[in-house]
Amino acid sequence: MKFTRRELLIAGLGMLVTKVTGCTQSTTTLSRRPGTPWPGSISRPTPTRAGTHTVSAPRPVQPTRPVATTAGPPGLVPRSWWTRSGPIRSKVNPMKGINRITIHHEGHTPVWFTDARSTKARLEQVRNIHTRDRRWGDIGYHYVIDRAGRVIEGRPLAYQGAHVSQQNPHNVGVMLLGNFEKQSPSQAQLTALQSTLRHLMAKYRVPVRRVYTHRELGPTVCPGRNLQPRIASLRTSGALA
Ligand SMILES: [Zn+2]
Repeated sequence: MKFTRRELLIAGLGMLVTKVTGCTQSTTTLSRRPGTPWPGSISRPTPTRAGTHTVSAPRPVQPTRPVATTAGPPGLVPRSWWTRSGPIRSKVNPMKGINRITIHHEGHTPVWFTDARSTKARLEQVRNIHTRDRRWGDIGYHYVIDRAGRVIEGRPLAYQGAHVSQQNPHNVGVMLLGNFEKQSPSQAQLTALQSTLRHLMAKYRVPVRRVYTHRELGPTVCPGRNLQPRIASLRTSGALA
């Protein structure tokens, strides 16, 4: 059977679409959500002065200090490690304070690789899909943890992420590479996730009850049946305290 160039092109596009990466909020990964993921419908908390231990404890739901992009989680691998592209400034909104954290899996094909080259390629693939297919301003997540346990900077924390529909303001997105419906996270990933969460919670004064998984905020299986219970036990075990 012979195909026209157009048919081949369409077939190719179809394959490309089925490669869509990410933890979408429905069972189909093909749908495109219209509009930008930051509706601004959530009232914006007022950032308070912070940075010293003498400041009286603020209400925990409020962002407690201006976003700093310099000091990150322990061992943070900078964005420049995997991409030379920056966010599309016209398509990203300022974060203006942090008061919650949401955990995701990548949700595409299972990830077994641990080498730097493969991780870099995968991150670039995710960024391309988020910026070209979904037309977002950058990769949606602020941090990505690969199977080797590297904690890698994604979207700069200075900007709102694009990782939970309607709930991106003040919300740090942490994604673990892999599909935890089909595989389990590596111990290195879990260890790195714990230290990342502890860092973020301490730095931004996010209480454990404000550490969510994606499925707790929207209709999705993310972060997968093999990671969800690990997060639940992390929260209840005192490991994040
Ligand atoms: Zn997700």
